[in-house]
This record gives sequence, structure tokens and C-alpha cells, in this order.
Amino acid sequence: MTQFSKIVLATGNKGKVAEFASLFDSYNIDIKPQSAFNVPDAPETGTTFVENAIIKARNAAVITGLPSIADDSGLAVDALGGAPGIYSSRYAGEPSDDANNIDKLLIALEGKQDRNARFLCVLVFMQHKDDPTPIICQGEWHGEIATQRHGAGGFGYDPVFWLPEQNLSAAQLDKDTKNAQSHRGKALKLLMQHMLPMLA
Ligand code: IMP
Repeated sequence: MTQFSKIVLATGNKGKVAEFASLFDSYNIDIKPQSAFNVPDAPETGTTFVENAIIKARNAAVITGLPSIADDSGLAVDALGGAPGIYSSRYAGEPSDDANNIDKLLIALEGKQDRNARFLCVLVFMQHKDDPTPIICQGEWHGEIATQRHGAGGFGYDPVFWLPEQNLSAAQLDKDTKNAQSHRGKALKLLMQHMLPMLA
């Protein structure tokens, strides 16, 4: 028996909403963006991806009374000690600006030999606002930071996230190819596996 007929997604990103909605569609679960309930963004005051994802999921569950899913993601660069990490979207200041973030990153890495980096994604599912055991899933995607931009697709740091084996940047992958290998795609796959028993 399905326990949930509706889940609120704690994001305003239309691409993420569409991706989740299509996955849950076959289980007759309606995925609603938090904007449909006028849920304001929660301040990301945590110091880890996990904390921030829980903050976002709890905020959406408190306001809507529905089960919720939230994600928090970012880029960790080895030569920068894991920065920009949880501050990826606001690396060059607020309001966040992808072009400025990339410029700042390229300057920070000028002359560095080690260009290794990872995208990280944490997904959290909370059955209700007081859920003491949220489901937490993580995904990683390894690559290198290129010395200049390549491609115009994707978002965020994609134009400088270089995939040596494919000889392409993340911004040069089509959406399905990116989803199949990305940090978010991997975390989402794990989350679906953990949620399946609740949906059957
Ligand atoms: P959020 O989790 O959507 O808030 O994303 C955090 C930030 O990490 C984004 O603003 C991007 O700068 C970066 N980021 C996360 N995932 C990706 C990705 O798949 N491609 C490029 N940048 C990403």
C-alpha cells in the first residue's frame, strides 16, 4: 500500500522538480515544488551538506504538513581544501552568480598542478517534520577543474568541470548523459532504492 500520495520538493529549480516528478509518477506520487505552497527558502545555516539538506526538508515539511525531499550540493576542490563546498552557490558573494563563481575558482587555481575536484550531492527524505530518522543519500562525481570554460549547457560550474575520460566538460554533456553519471543522479538512484519499500 502506498503511504504517500504527495511529496513536497524543497527546491525552486524546475529541472529538479521535473526529474523527481517523472521518477515518482509510476508510483502515483505527486511531486510538488515548495513554491506551490509559498514555502520560503530556509536559511542554509548548517556547516555540512547533510545539515543543510535536513534544514531545507524540515522547513518544507513544517510549512506544508507533507513528507518532503531536499537536496544540497556543491563542488569540492582538492587543492582548495574542499572549497567552495557548501558555499558553492555563494562562492563569489551574494546574490549567487555562476559566472563570477567560475572566475573566482579559475583565479584561485591559477598555477596549481592538482586540478582534482568532486561534485557532491546529499538528498534527504523526511516522512514528517519531526521524523527522527530521515533517509540520507549521497552521490559523488569526480572530475578536474579545466583552465577555461568549455561548452554552454548545464549550470553552475559545469563549463569548467572537466571529465578527462570523456574529453568533455559537464556543460558539453546532454541532460540524460549527465544525469546517468552525476552526483545528483547517483544520490537520486540510492534514494529511490531506499524509498521503494515505502512505495510498494
Ligand atoms: P544547490 O544544491 O542547488 O544549492 O547547488 C549548490 C551549488 O553547487 C550550485 O549553485 C552550483 O554552483 C553548484 N552545483 C551543484 N550541482 C552542480 C552541477 O551539477 N553542476 C554545476 N554546478 C553544480
